[in-house]
Amino acid sequence: MTSLPLISVDPDARGRRPAMPPRHLADLDLPGRQALVTELGEPAFRAKQVSNHYFGRLVRDPERMTDLPAAARKRLAGELLPTLLTPVRELACDDGATRKALWRLHDGSLVESVLMGYPDRVTVCISSQAGCGMACPFCATGQAGLTRNLSTAEIVDQAVYLAGVAASGAVAGSPPRLSHVVFMGMGEPLANYSRVVAAIRRLVAPAPEGLGLSQRHITVSTVGLVPAIRRLASEDLSVTLALSLHAPDDELRDELVPVNQRWKVSEVLDAAWDYAATTGRRVSIEYAMIKDVNDQPWRADLLGRLLAGKLAHVNLIPLNPTPGSRWDASPKPVEREFVRRLRDAGVSTTVRDTRGREIDGACGQLAAAGDTDGDSRAATA
Ligand code: SAH
Repeated sequence: MTSLPLISVDPDARGRRPAMPPRHLADLDLPGRQALVTELGEPAFRAKQVSNHYFGRLVRDPERMTDLPAAARKRLAGELLPTLLTPVRELACDDGATRKALWRLHDGSLVESVLMGYPDRVTVCISSQAGCGMACPFCATGQAGLTRNLSTAEIVDQAVYLAGVAASGAVAGSPPRLSHVVFMGMGEPLANYSRVVAAIRRLVAPAPEGLGLSQRHITVSTVGLVPAIRRLASEDLSVTLALSLHAPDDELRDELVPVNQRWKVSEVLDAAWDYAATTGRRVSIEYAMIKDVNDQPWRADLLGRLLAGKLAHVNLIPLNPTPGSRWDASPKPVEREFVRRLRDAGVSTTVRDTRGREIDGACGQLAAAGDTDGDSRAATA
């Protein structure tokens, strides 16, 4: 049996202090920013001005903040907008409609985010942790373990940065405005609970306090940390919950999603249905299709029985290749049969596209390896 992953909400519990980044305005709500600006000896309304540049105009260069007195610009930007993410590399595929960004954080940690343009929307997939402690054996991020939680602003800044890329018209054939955010990058968002919830509040707050996205356009994906799912349901938020189920039975799920050793399939589904009932939002059930592992017809039927009549939608994800993995994606006919059985059981089911596969930017492929551009410092940081 695999050992239980560390399910700590606080990395300090590991006995070492993670190096958190400098404070940034996106860590604070608007009253918090106003208090800070006042402490810095500036009038409180400057907080709104700087916030409007950052969230409203997607501007972070102090020279472009011409409504601020020249003398105050650099200082305010230095205090409120310290550099959190330094771009290391950007890779694009799908004619530029999918772009993966690799960032270096202030302590040398590396994280990745993915921008995906569609005809009707622009989605960014962001990371909530550097690495991940959940140890799912088919996921590249899980193999290296957890480095640290990201700060609220490090999470938000990925979206703001890529919103700027979209606004520059870089994603041809897509609207220029970022509309959707999915917490499906590196890390387990509910293991970094308070910072992720604060980040969601920044993403949905109207400008200048935040990015002004719709709550319905934000998806939090989890391995199934039951107490955290219940806590999320009690926030005054109604974001979409995605549950990485991957197996309908405990025996297999214990192996594929080791946290199942702590919270079983029935418990995590109960929490998901309570989340759906409280928020009115359909829960998305994620299921990676792994050849001869979890793709048998009987597992489709069992899954169908568990989900029938529930406020749920199944997203099948063809397994993406990861380094050293012993598993393959299910053959297409097997996948089609799985879909057919779920639909026969009355369960709404779709197969997720494999956006970003060529650039290792698809589900489960984010490993933040900085080595392919010869940047060995980043790779070992
Ligand atoms: N920790 C969260 C967020 C990661 S989201 C979670 O597990 O939900 C990424 C999604 O991709 C999850 O459903 C994850 O299980 C899935 N995934 C991981 N590795 C994959 C792979 N190799 N192929 C397809 N999907 C994968």
